[in-house]
Amino acid sequence: MSNQKNREIRLKRRPVGVPKTDDFELAETEVPTPGHGQVLVRNIFMSVDPYMRGRMVDRRSYVPPFQIGEVLSGGAIGQVVASNNNKEFKAGDYVSNGLGWREWFVSPSQGLQKLDPKIGPIQSYLGALGMPGLTAYAGLLRIGELKNGERVFVSAASGAVGSIAVQIAKNKGCYVVGSAGSDEKCKFLTEELGIDGAINYRKAKDLTTAVREAFHEGIDVYFENVGGEHLVAALNNMRVNGRIPLCGMIDQYNATELPAGPGNLAMAIGMSLTLRGYIVSNHYDMMPKFLEDMAKWIKEGKMKWRETILEGIEKAPEAFIGLFRGDNFGKMLVKIGPDSAV
Ligand code: NDP
Repeated sequence: MSNQKNREIRLKRRPVGVPKTDDFELAETEVPTPGHGQVLVRNIFMSVDPYMRGRMVDRRSYVPPFQIGEVLSGGAIGQVVASNNNKEFKAGDYVSNGLGWREWFVSPSQGLQKLDPKIGPIQSYLGALGMPGLTAYAGLLRIGELKNGERVFVSAASGAVGSIAVQIAKNKGCYVVGSAGSDEKCKFLTEELGIDGAINYRKAKDLTTAVREAFHEGIDVYFENVGGEHLVAALNNMRVNGRIPLCGMIDQYNATELPAGPGNLAMAIGMSLTLRGYIVSNHYDMMPKFLEDMAKWIKEGKMKWRETILEGIEKAPEAFIGLFRGDNFGKMLVKIGPDSAV
């Protein structure tokens, strides 16, 4: 390991509007040496997620902002390469961690979770079997109080969260329609995931009309990933007592001015709607039940997912920016290390 270097991605400046690759910088440091009780981890996959855009802004939120000049962080899967008397982990263990955007790191045990690579491919713990999957599960079942057989609309439906959400709803016997940004993604939703309909929002002349055509009887649960025109269209088509779990509003993450609120929010009064925001980190108590259900659905062939994987840590900024152009099909990941380093 003597001539091996660690590469990491730092925030060079706070992006304005859509981030650019030169808002980030690639830096090289020494591979750290684990102190007593610590492990040395080589990351294999790192995740890029839309929420990271919010952390690039200097404002108060549920997580502190990234600092300029500092290495970024986020979900990753790595392998323990060396353990200096650490009681919980040994060389060879695969671990999920929150220290992505870098190839190597040392750590005491906190923040590391051992993975069983036999349950699913290790990178799926960053997508379908990890945070995005749980976001779909908690959002639909706990926040959206989904009942069997309801009528469900999901935006960004071919993405990491959306593609799991549509299948959970389908597995609960619901009528499910999703929206996505290309015909290819829509075809995937209907033909591979087997949902009832898909709307290419980029082609729709008027989204309210397109949603109405898909939901003649209205929507019980709208799983909100996008905001903007999508929220307006969903509000115009909700049924009485409908629920809208507010998961994300990616349409406005790069806005340089505060976007106008949906002009038809008053629909929520007349239709007795519940709009409820949530953050997945407050719902990790559901993880065991989520994994149990996922294992069952996978076994029954009722849960599939896609991943878009870019190679090399230097591609991480590009992968991240691609989320806002819809470059990803399913979960966007970056492979930043060899499958095994021990
Ligand atoms: P995705 O894998 O869905 O990737 C983002 C997708 O959003 C793109 O592929 C693109 O697909 C779509 N998109 C991007 N910009 C726009 C736009 N302006 N209008 C419409 N669609 C757009 O990401 P995730 O599944 O990880 O995240 C989905 C949402 O869930 C995000 O809003 C995210 O912030 C939120 N989230 C919330 C969490 C929580 O705790 N509340 C936790 C995790 C995620 P397309 O080609 O279809 O346009």
